[in-house]
Amino acid sequence: MFSYRHAFHAGNHADVLKHTVLLAVLKHMAQKETPFTVFDTHAGAGLYRLDGDYAQTSAEAAQGFLKLVAAKPATPLAPAVQDYVDLVASFNSGGQWKVYPGSPFIIQQHLRGRDKLKLFELHPTDAKTLSANIAQLEAGRQVAIALEDGFEGVKKFLPPPSRRALLFCDPSYEIKHDYARVQAMVADALVRFATGTYAVWYPLIPRPEAHDLPRKLKTLAVRAGKSWLEATLTVKSSKLLHDDEGETIRPGLPASGVFLINPPYTLKAALKDALPQLATILGQDQHATHTLESGG
Ligand code: SAM
Repeated sequence: MFSYRHAFHAGNHADVLKHTVLLAVLKHMAQKETPFTVFDTHAGAGLYRLDGDYAQTSAEAAQGFLKLVAAKPATPLAPAVQDYVDLVASFNSGGQWKVYPGSPFIIQQHLRGRDKLKLFELHPTDAKTLSANIAQLEAGRQVAIALEDGFEGVKKFLPPPSRRALLFCDPSYEIKHDYARVQAMVADALVRFATGTYAVWYPLIPRPEAHDLPRKLKTLAVRAGKSWLEATLTVKSSKLLHDDEGETIRPGLPASGVFLINPPYTLKAALKDALPQLATILGQDQHATHTLESGG
């Protein structure tokens, strides 16, 4: 069984990037009357404590979301970043940051009565917590949770009856094979449902599979004649550091990206202002940067 638990990482710089993008996509989708479905293939526990044991152990939010809200930028936050801060604020009160919403709750907040959300989570403990968290919403059949492999489980729902959908894929990549599974899932999904919007988060780490994945997704999009967008955020160098005794210091995640196929046409403009600001505020050394590319 996996050892990855998202509670250790909730609110880190990767969450800031992926959730800012997710929110911008959802806002666009909710503008049209037609119902939509969202598939979250790797849902996690749904809600996280920023002051809990897990969060305190890693303190990753301190270099991510909490750093963002503590910053006093010279210019106002870009609208997409402000929307994201406002969204997390809506889960907190009294000026204290205690709760961080994961993707299921970010998505659920944007559903209208006619929209649907299907969540997949394979870790039994996280799936149990997710079920308990979602039950509080009393969302009924609008939100479904499957204790199932998301890569495989999502297939049977494609294409969805709504014919408008976002597939959000956010694996932990704890297993090397996940990179190939993402690629295979997107290739299969594009055949079943060519007009869906696909958003895949991936880590940018010194590992060939991690760098190959966005290239492979781009090839899939181009071959299918679909538009694509890739956004990355780097907060520090990926070089290994050594302490005074020559021991290697684990640098932690230096960068990550989100690759989208059939992105909303409004997304690039929204991220153009947001990404440089995130790189400036969350950057930890002179390697902090961002990229934003699109095509199709
Ligand atoms: N998407 C969540 C969010 O943004 O709040 C965080 C998800 S976390 C990065 C990845 C999750 O996927 C973990 O909770 C892990 O237990 C789960 N997981 C790992 N492999 C899976 C699989 N094959 N299918 C479904 N869930 C899986």
